[in-house]
Amino acid sequence: MTVIAKSGWVMAARTGRAALAAVIGHPVAHSLSPAIHEYWLQERGIDGAYIPLAVAGDDFTKAVSFLMRAGFRGCNVTIPHKETAFRLCDVPDEAAQRAGAVNTLWFEAGRVHGANTDGYGFIRNLSGSGFDPAGKKIIVLGAGGAARAIVMTLGDAKAGAIVIVNRTGEKAAALVDACCRYGVPCQASGQGMLARELDDCHLLINTTPCGMADREAFELDLSPMPDGAAVCDIVYTPLMTPLLREAKGRGLTVIDGLGMLLHQAAPGFARWFGVMPEVTPGLRNHVVALLPS
Ligand code: NAP
Repeated sequence: MTVIAKSGWVMAARTGRAALAAVIGHPVAHSLSPAIHEYWLQERGIDGAYIPLAVAGDDFTKAVSFLMRAGFRGCNVTIPHKETAFRLCDVPDEAAQRAGAVNTLWFEAGRVHGANTDGYGFIRNLSGSGFDPAGKKIIVLGAGGAARAIVMTLGDAKAGAIVIVNRTGEKAAALVDACCRYGVPCQASGQGMLARELDDCHLLINTTPCGMADREAFELDLSPMPDGAAVCDIVYTPLMTPLLREAKGRGLTVIDGLGMLLHQAAPGFARWFGVMPEVTPGLRNHVVALLPS
């Protein structure tokens, strides 16, 4: 049975047997994950639902336990619960263990399984944009949770050399230590060395919140970067960040952060709803229309 929603969308009606998933965060109202998963549910005509749950602090563990008992298939986890989610996992996947954080949970036989799909989403977006990191020199701005997942995955993709540049040097050094333990070829460099590092850099990635609509942006001179190099910003509000605008003006390849967000969602959907969804131009247009202008 189908119903016509107010928006004009044709929605599959949910039955008492609907497969259920959620996203838990605090705040969660800004999350685009419900729009992504509801799009795929409708596209595939699946009897399922994906619900945003604003859960703060200590209530997170109780909320996950409740979802499991209530028959949910699993959930996404966002700020500030990704590290707590990792600790409560019975079975974290390899990416989660390397990141020390989880963004996707699913329940099997009373056990909590967890994955970190940020690196997967990043690398799928990168390859979809035609960039192969193998053998390349890559500079990563930032040393937080997203940077950790991305650097580890770039190691898997055989990046030639990764340079991490962070406001707080100690955090960059700690990330280098963690990644080197997994054999990822990376080193830290000071912000003052950035101009020199850029002149043989094939890919520059911003993993900090700088450039978000309500934040200051990096003021970087990209002129030393070689022709044919690429710049990726994992910030996606706005889609065209000041850094990407500068890169476009310089004639470099520009990769925005929305593709990472869309791709990181796919493995969770497959776990909960049994079908690996596709990241299509239709999905992207649907989500772009929801971004704040
Ligand atoms: P995080 O763990 O808090 O790390 C933030 C990093 O940014 C830290 O290295 C921090 O440096 C640096 N930073 C923060 N403010 C800065 C400033 N004003 N100047 C210079 N550096 C600054 O955050 P995260 O989880 O990695 O997320 C980072 C960003 O990525 C967020 O905007 C998030 O929304 C976005 N993100 C996007 C996706 C996607 O799918 N596109 C996925 C995950 C995250 P210090 O170490 O010096 O504090």
